[in-house]
Amino acid sequence: MGYRLSGEQFDRFLDRLKENYRVFGPAVDRDKGNYTDMDRVTYKEIHRLDDLELNRKSYFSPKEIFYPIRETLFQFCEGETRVPAIDEKKTAIFLRPCDINGIDRLDTIFLENGPFEDFYYKRRRDKVKFFMIECTSGFDSCFCASMKANRTERRDVTFRFGDEILAEVKSEEFVPYFEGMAQKPFEVRFVEKNRMKVRLPEVADVTVEHFQHELWKEYTARCIACGRCNTSCITCSCFTMRDASFAGGKIGERRRTWAGCHVNGFTDMAGGHGFRGPRGERMRFKTMHKINDYHKRFGKHQCVGCGRCEDVCPQYISFARCINTLFDVVREGKSK
Ligand code: SF4
Ligand code: SF4
Repeated sequence: MGYRLSGEQFDRFLDRLKENYRVFGPAVDRDKGNYTDMDRVTYKEIHRLDDLELNRKSYFSPKEIFYPIRETLFQFCEGETRVPAIDEKKTAIFLRPCDINGIDRLDTIFLENGPFEDFYYKRRRDKVKFFMIECTSGFDSCFCASMKANRTERRDVTFRFGDEILAEVKSEEFVPYFEGMAQKPFEVRFVEKNRMKVRLPEVADVTVEHFQHELWKEYTARCIACGRCNTSCITCSCFTMRDASFAGGKIGERRRTWAGCHVNGFTDMAGGHGFRGPRGERMRFKTMHKINDYHKRFGKHQCVGCGRCEDVCPQYISFARCINTLFDVVREGKSK
């Protein structure tokens, strides 16, 4: 089903929707950018069309809406435990195709990577519906087409924002929200190529030698281990656990908090052992996980080419360039 909406009708649609859903989308955080008087685009609750920022890429991904930065898993008191309740309302998120594919990669990790589904992830994720923003040109740092993450069928409603707003409704449950609006079917389009292109080495061609190659040393010198690339990535899923307790450990709670493979302490173990000290080794771990190891296990790349890690890095480290360098090194090895 396809519909045509004016701006006013879109706002009425949101009003109806908000009776049952919390609605999130890319929005401007005034003066919250890295420098004075700079804005930042991030994911926020949306109430009107004007709240949506459609012309700039969001600095953070939408993952924190259903996978919080910090989450209490359970509380304990004198031998009893209790799992905190979550908001009963469902969630609708305005997002682009790369991010829908990124959430697919998170689903794979949290729901399919082992014998058990992650209960805490699943209970929030089950409430999420995708309102895809039609994306036909992308941004300068995007390389979703190279990662084959530019298209998706996992969308509930698709919106084309232009002089008029068009909506393609795939999920029946959203049809009633468009009641009274003019019908106008349209064919959803996707980005076909990006300005930024990435060449991916064949997974089978990557060997131990490439893990030990000196290309990674450049990142030991440049990366400052700030972890911005991890926190802004739609597909980074790592977390750490911590117990907060008092009364001699009888009362307290267990929390999980995002963690990142670039950050100091990520690999620290009992006894003071730590792995991947040099920051180049952390870059290598992330790169190989995103475009090699994950693919070996699940048959698809983890990275979806959203380009946020490039956008946010204070050291101007380009992940796309890193992948292309690895491609050249692997190809060079093959031609010897
Ligand atoms: S690694 Fe970079 S480009 Fe790939 S999904 Fe994460 S933030 Fe996006
Ligand atoms: S954002 Fe850049 S400097 Fe910060 S950890 Fe990532 S690669 Fe290193």
